[in-house]
Parts: sequence; structure tokens; C-alpha cells
Amino acid sequence: MHPSTYKAKAYSAASETSPLASTIIARRDPTERDVQIEILFCGICHSDLHSVRNEWSEFMATNYPIVPGHEIVGRVTRVGSAVTKYKPGELVAVGCMVDSDRTCQNCKRDLEQFCPNMTLTFNSPDKHLGGVTYGGYSDSIVVNEHFVLRLPSNLNIAGVAPLLCAGITTYSPMRHWGVGQGKKVGVVGLGGLGHMGVKFAHAFGARVVVFTTSPNKRDDAMRLGADEAVVSRNADEMKKHAGSFDFILDTVSADHDVNAYINLLGVDGNLTLVGAPAEPLRVPAFGLIVRRRSFSGSSIGGIAETQEMLDFCGKHNITADVEVIPVQKVNEAYERLLKSDVKYRFSIDMASLKSK
Ligand SMILES: [Zn+2]
Ligand SMILES: [Zn+2]
Repeated sequence: MHPSTYKAKAYSAASETSPLASTIIARRDPTERDVQIEILFCGICHSDLHSVRNEWSEFMATNYPIVPGHEIVGRVTRVGSAVTKYKPGELVAVGCMVDSDRTCQNCKRDLEQFCPNMTLTFNSPDKHLGGVTYGGYSDSIVVNEHFVLRLPSNLNIAGVAPLLCAGITTYSPMRHWGVGQGKKVGVVGLGGLGHMGVKFAHAFGARVVVFTTSPNKRDDAMRLGADEAVVSRNADEMKKHAGSFDFILDTVSADHDVNAYINLLGVDGNLTLVGAPAEPLRVPAFGLIVRRRSFSGSSIGGIAETQEMLDFCGKHNITADVEVIPVQKVNEAYERLLKSDVKYRFSIDMASLKSK
């Protein structure tokens, strides 16, 4: 039996060529273990745009209407009868996942992001109401308490929202590959993901080198915590760093020469992809063999690690650099995102949804 529902305001797209527009959606009333959250801010992630325009149709076709958004912060308004973790009034967050089976090997290892039965925050089959899940471009959301995160009280919540995707996407591989004091870390690309990567690598105590195609990003890279910025087109500058890195985080989604960065890794060095270029990358075997280097990927992080990341941000005063916009400007923001015209993430002030 389906649970009862209530009406929520949202912004949705009706087709891959439609702009996002105001709409009303049904949300389930909280069941036993659910937390109902009034959404205060939602970050704009590049995957929102990819999904709205059905650009990932090959492996994740979009169901319309779509309500995107998986960088959610808000306040608890209602909880189910069996909820123990949260109370109304508390500040909380929701990231890219809202459910998983909790029984598989991956879930048992706190790696819900790799659960074969994981439910994404939007455009995933909705087990409760049928249809698909609706994300954070909305005035509220209802989520099982296990997938709700606690916010540190000292951070600006508009800048916290992007931590739920851009933050954990860069934090998790750095933890996995042991980024810390005495390590030399590269961050390729200085956008939404890259700017978080720089902040984390710096906070972990590593020596941080940013690789960028635009020399005018040098000052910003240093301000964000880099020790050095290298213009990747400058072959001489690149050569100076050959064989010297412990870890490189590659955040670039456009086609690029990944081998140029693999060559900068030292023995046992690792390069992790978190950007997703559309075309396959060419990786010559000897680039990896000669120094036992590895080349890998990473996808967000589990719930426990996401909480750890938020707590780390609270302790080190880390938030994303955001431009706050009203929801009415979201289509304009998408066009600017395509031109990388944002420093470094848009955060939608959901109070604006009430004004319409
Ligand atoms: Zn995202
Ligand atoms: Zn599982």
C-alpha cells in the first residue's frame, strides 16, 4: 500500500528541451523511519544539468518530469514514530542517495554508494510512491533517517549544500588514497569539484599543486589553499613535476590528455578520476607499469564517510564558495554553468520558491 502524500512546491523540467519551471509534486507523509525536511538551500551540480537535458541517456535515461538537486540542506519539520536520530528543528542535509538495501556486502562496509539497489535522490525508481524520486529543487523532501546527515552548527549553510556532492566526491578518494602531511597532491581543474579538492588537500596537510588551463585562475588557486599553480599547457612547467606526485585528483569532464598527469606520478602514485569525460581516455600501459602507478575512479562516498566529511568541515571551517541565487534564476544559472561562469558553485535559496 502506498503511504499518504502531501503537496510540495518544486521546480521541474517536462522534457529534455524544456526549461525548469514551477510545479506541484506529491511527497509521501513520513513513514516510521522517515524525516521530513524543509529545504533551505540546494546546490546546483553539473549532473543536474546532464540529467535535465538527458545527456546521460545511454546509462541513466531521464524520466520526465524531473526535479533535480542532490546537494540539500534544510531543517527537520516532522519525523516518523520510530525515528531516533533527529528531532524537528534540527539542521540536516541530504546528498546523492536516499535509500539502499542495507544488507549487501557494500552496504555492510558503509559503501552504500555502490549498493546494487541504491536509490538516487532524483530520477531513481521511487519504492514508496512508484514513479521516480524527486530531488532538492523543492520546498521539502522526505528521507529515511539513515540517509539524513547532521550539520555542524558553525558553518554557513548556503555554502554547506555543495559539500553533499562536490565535497564528498573529492574528500572520499583523498581519504582512500591516504592524502595527508608529507604528501604531494595535484588537483586537475579548478571548478566546483576542483576548488573543494584544493580545500580538502590543504586541510589534510598535503602540499597542493593545482593544474589549470587558465593562468588567470592562479591567484584563486592560491587563495583556496594551493601551494603552487601550474598552467597545464606549459610543457616546461609540467616537466618540472615529472614523477613527483603521490596522488592526483582529476576533476576534468572534458576530453583531455590524462597521460600528461600520469607521468607526473611517483612510485605507487595514484590518479583518481572524478570528472566524467564523454569519450574513453587513452592510457598507455607503460605509463602505469614503470612506477607501479595506478589509475582509478571514485564516486561520492558512503553515509558514514559523508558524515565524517561534514564533521571535518565543521572542525576546519570548510564550505564551498557559492553564488546564492533564487530558484527563478536556475535556467540562467545552467547557461552560466556551461561557460564555467561561477565561483564555484550555485546554491539556490529555497525561500525564493515561496515568493511565487
Ligand atoms: Zn552531484
Ligand atoms: Zn546494499
